[in-house]
Amino acid sequence: MTFNLQSLVPRHIARMKPYTSARDDFGGSRENRVFLDANELPDPLVGMPPNINRYPGNEPAMLKEKLAAVKNTDPAQIFLGNGSDEIIDLVMRCFARPGKDQVMIFPPTFGMYAVRAEANNLEVQAVGLDEGFFVSHEKTMQAITPKTRLMFICHPNNPTANTQPAEVITRILESFNGIVVADEAYIDFSPEKSLLPLLARHPNLMVVQTFSKAFGLAGARIGVAYASEEIIATMDKMRCPYNLGTPSIELAVKALDNHASYRLSALRITRMRDKMAQEIADMPLVEKVYPSDANFLLVKTSDANSLYHYLANKGVIVRNRNHEPGCAGCLRITVGTASENRRLLDAWKKYGSSGGEQDKTCDAAGEEQLKERRVMKRRSTSETDISLELNLDGTGDVHIESGIGFFDHMLHQIAKHGMIDLDIIVKGDLETDPHHSIEDTAITLGMAVLEALGNKKGIERYGFALPMDESSAHVLLDLGGRSYLKWDVVFDSSHIGDIPASLFGHFFRSFTEAAKCNLHVTATGEDDHHKVEAIFKAFARTLRMAASRNRSGIMPSTKGVL
Ligand SMILES: *Cc1c(COP(=O)(O)O)cnc(C)c1O
Repeated sequence: MTFNLQSLVPRHIARMKPYTSARDDFGGSRENRVFLDANELPDPLVGMPPNINRYPGNEPAMLKEKLAAVKNTDPAQIFLGNGSDEIIDLVMRCFARPGKDQVMIFPPTFGMYAVRAEANNLEVQAVGLDEGFFVSHEKTMQAITPKTRLMFICHPNNPTANTQPAEVITRILESFNGIVVADEAYIDFSPEKSLLPLLARHPNLMVVQTFSKAFGLAGARIGVAYASEEIIATMDKMRCPYNLGTPSIELAVKALDNHASYRLSALRITRMRDKMAQEIADMPLVEKVYPSDANFLLVKTSDANSLYHYLANKGVIVRNRNHEPGCAGCLRITVGTASENRRLLDAWKKYGSSGGEQDKTCDAAGEEQLKERRVMKRRSTSETDISLELNLDGTGDVHIESGIGFFDHMLHQIAKHGMIDLDIIVKGDLETDPHHSIEDTAITLGMAVLEALGNKKGIERYGFALPMDESSAHVLLDLGGRSYLKWDVVFDSSHIGDIPASLFGHFFRSFTEAAKCNLHVTATGEDDHHKVEAIFKAFARTLRMAASRNRSGIMPSTKGVL
């Protein structure tokens, strides 16, 4: 089949002339010019960011260029929307005629497609997904009519979390005369590849991505469409001028510059997702946890409504998908932080034992809970990229990937014996040596502890540890705000595990500096390996003691501040 885009463009759009804004004429450089053309305020108000008084200039072009480089495509093949939502709506308005044409969707899927179709007076053709939530090529081909202009394939699909095989999508692209929109909102969580490379061969493909999910910018409202220049030009002509705000665009550029940290975050989410899937499988009412390529889980239960209300009563809000076709009994659950996920699982575990739906007590009310001291930290240098999540009031839930086996083992001691939830991923220059990775992990951990301690009101402040095992380690700690390390430890060997022995003192020095604490460490023993382990365990115990809170709320200092 031959695809002819112009045959899809409604006549009134083909004819229309786009609005040209003041900025279109002299968009870029503000150098040596005064701009009295757009009725803007000449200066921002007090406290506002610079240039916010101006309409966006070349910022969208800058973002497109960055995206083109990252995605290996051309800026002219990129459209920026106010969220994918604007794109979904606009593609319908550009290529389908209200009251005449049809839009095909594959339920259960993202509700927005049908809503925007209805808003644009387009008939929705629903072709249900097959067993396993797969698009059927055969059913799709049979359902296509001459009025079918657009097709929305969600890849991975919301709410079923699976990805469609690329060959099915390719076959549809080859035999369909309209535009196939592949919505890749969740592609960064999927082991499957983006369909972007198919753009070169398929002029009727549009790939939609977003900054709302893996890039963590849902509040900024930025969606991106990739398609042929012709399709993009039509959408650009139809969109409202300045459809994205400058602060949003700047945030997107920043997020792209911070590419490594977004990869680490996606990695962490998928890892937690897989762990959560296993734990949910053992929860009351659960019949099935569907495999997920996204940052959420679809869970089939024997009573979705009751469980949904029970969890909501406990303050845990999930999405009830019970009434979606093919999703009877299903809840959709987003992967949250480690402690949010634990809150879900703790509440769920108790379902039934406390009377299920009848239980109307809310945990948070009544008993006054001290707020969890939880911190996420990212620290990137040219040598390391560290992503760390810490909860001082955890249970010792731990995941460490430093690339250095023995160091992982020691950080485990801190989490387990400190009752600290600790999730650390280190990407370091290990081909040089472990020095940077260990030092920077210590700094990041110290910064995180300091931040988690907050104003330090009500903490015990001091900690000490007693001899342990056949080696003995004494660790004294003061979280008082000044950095000092007294390191009274001698090792016999040059290396312990795979780490130069001198780096252990270095680790604690970097930690005390970043966490602004006093630390005195002495250790004796026969075996260096045991000695180090005793130091880390004792340190963990000491930290737990000093960071623990009484309910006095009193600043543990005669000076009144720490
Ligand atoms: C979350 C989501 C989006 C993102 O929409 P934005 O408007 O970009 O925030 C797009 N498609 C699907 C299927 C989603 O679930």
